Amino acid sequence: METITPERRDRVRQEAIADIPWWYSPWGHLAATTGIGLVVLVLATVRLAALPVDPTDLLVVPLVCLFANAFEHQVHKRVLHRRMWPFEVIYDKHTPLHHVVYVEHDMAVRSARELRLVLIPAMGVLGIVVTAAPFALVVGRLWSAGAGWLFLLTASLFMVSYELLHLAYHAPSGSLVGRNRIIAKLRAHHARHHDPRLMQRYNFNVTVPLFDWVLGTMAPKPEHDARAGDAWHATCSPPPRRPR
Ligand SMILES: [Zn+2]
Ligand SMILES: [Zn+2]
Repeated sequence: METITPERRDRVRQEAIADIPWWYSPWGHLAATTGIGLVVLVLATVRLAALPVDPTDLLVVPLVCLFANAFEHQVHKRVLHRRMWPFEVIYDKHTPLHHVVYVEHDMAVRSARELRLVLIPAMGVLGIVVTAAPFALVVGRLWSAGAGWLFLLTASLFMVSYELLHLAYHAPSGSLVGRNRIIAKLRAHHARHHDPRLMQRYNFNVTVPLFDWVLGTMAPKPEHDARAGDAWHATCSPPPRRPR
């Protein structure tokens, strides 16, 4: 059990920022991850406009949203918070880094370069879209071509919404995005997950906490969790520093 003191948080933050390569562009990173969704949106819109789409095809949209919400919950719980082959790098960027730099009452990024510590790498987003493509093909064959494109489109936009919402939670709470009431409500849910005492057990949904509710992993309200103290405890250690 390691204590996450403010000094340790500052040190991990400084080391993480020093590790960001000189060529890194936070706005390029954001444009790449959202741009992947935009490309799929344009492709799917063009294809769907040329296809006969039955109203029943639209059922694919809520079904994919449900599945994606469950997937988000389980991957966050089992991959981002447990170090396992071959996903060690994902764990290293999440539990001992993202969760040490940002804690419940100090969630905001302090500079644009910190987008590197919040956003998923563009290749990760692309990987998820590419992984969804064969499933979309199967849906296209077994259901209809329109349903197949709707599958790919919904999965891609869900991924982009995850990225944008997570970034919004880590925007300063007084900013235009941070002041939005819906964002503030969802941020409170994610911020509880950033309490190191709770992160391994509660609030794994980042978009909408549906499967946290279904699977009973909603964190207790702050007033019911009065074991306060200024020292934060977590079962994590800093990620190994990699040569640049
Ligand atoms: Zn976060
Ligand atoms: Zn987490």
